[in-house]
Amino acid sequence: MTSAAGQNRSSRIAGFHKKTPRERLDLVAAFAGLNETAVAHLANMGNLDPALADKLIENVIGTMNVPVGVATNMKIDGEDVLVPMATEESSVVAAVCNAARQNYETGFSTSVSGNLMIAQVQAVEVRDPAAARLRILERRDEIKAACDACDPVLVSLGGGFRDLEVRLLDTPSGTMVITHLIVDTRDAMGANAVNTMAEKLAPAIAGWAQGRVYLRILSNLADRRLARAHAVWRTADIGGEQVRDGIVSAYQFAAADPYRAATHNKGIMNGISAVVLATGNDTRAVEAGAHAYAARSGRYTSLTTYEVNADGDLSAAIELPLAVGLIGGATKVHPTARASLAILGVSTAERLARIIAAVGLAQNFSALKALATTGIQKGHMALHAQNIAMMAGAVGEEVDKVARILVERASVRMDVAAKVLEEVRGG
Ligand code: NAD
Repeated sequence: MTSAAGQNRSSRIAGFHKKTPRERLDLVAAFAGLNETAVAHLANMGNLDPALADKLIENVIGTMNVPVGVATNMKIDGEDVLVPMATEESSVVAAVCNAARQNYETGFSTSVSGNLMIAQVQAVEVRDPAAARLRILERRDEIKAACDACDPVLVSLGGGFRDLEVRLLDTPSGTMVITHLIVDTRDAMGANAVNTMAEKLAPAIAGWAQGRVYLRILSNLADRRLARAHAVWRTADIGGEQVRDGIVSAYQFAAADPYRAATHNKGIMNGISAVVLATGNDTRAVEAGAHAYAARSGRYTSLTTYEVNADGDLSAAIELPLAVGLIGGATKVHPTARASLAILGVSTAERLARIIAAVGLAQNFSALKALATTGIQKGHMALHAQNIAMMAGAVGEEVDKVARILVERASVRMDVAAKVLEEVRGG
């Protein structure tokens, strides 16, 4: 895509942020020597209004389209749900559909622990941390009033300050006094809401602690906003006892080994992040929370569990923090997010979190089943072959033809794809 780079290679571009996306794109094209095709591609913002894109983030020059697929077969708390998933990775949507097809009759049962977010205020240089802790705790009513005054809308919706915690943290520069403001953020993810409260409270906390306050920000370890899902797959429906035991063993491997757990949880996040992204929520916030929660015991482990129940069937469960919202961030303003929420038919952030937890469990079941039986490459190969075919230059109907031949020849490689493409084009 890149031709000879332009003459002016300075990244110091005065007033770049004040320009329009098209003006910025032209400057970038000149800098990087982009050819016309690349420029035309970036200039096409697809179904996201350029004016909106330009408001969502800074220095916009284009958009990155990612496919939105829909997971079928999901029955969650007795209700059928179609789940939009935005991802660039093949097999992710199919995995959820497959898992849910195998337990459609019973589906997934879900719950949440609440909508509570935590904002942290860090006080340092405190001479008497133990007493400072109590001085802050004594101000609970004052703190509640100050937090609630920051967000009357939230309070009017039944949210607002709920609790106070003060922790003492030993660090190389002494004991820090860490105040946690615990806030019900209702249908918002809540980062801005609680950050505002933490900043507002900070001077008072510095005074009570008789120290200096530095950081005032939410914790993404949203362990008071847990979403849970559990499901049973009947042994007879998943290929018998050997498959069931293979899945349990795969889980036990992840539970015991962080190297395996990282990949195990990555697979879970394939499903979770795809729904989080499709609904305009913050994928990084959810991922940070999930992985921090997986390490809460001090050793990183699996976010799911698998056991054999009294009937001899596979009983699976997931629990993780899911700070997602229906309001705030891009959820309300991005048209694809709005449409995704309409497909889901959710009216509360809690319901969205429950659905996402179920998707994470479905994703994980499929991955473990494939790994414990045929391996994941078999399922991945057909879709992977399509990517390879496209990378080799196949377009339109050629993509499926080339991909099919690559799979038949059990040789899904770029060099083979190029030869097959020539054969296909040669008739
Ligand atoms: P927000 O501030 O845009 O909206 C939340 C506000 O909407 C509430 O404070 C409330 O006043 C109002 N509101 C209206 N109807 C509501 C309802 N039904 N339920 C709850 N509130 C309602 O959004 P936010 O959720 O506070 O912040 C989310 C954004 O913050 C995301 O874009 C995220 O990426 C970003 N962010 C994340 C981090 C982090 O995760 N570390 C840090 C900073 C910012």
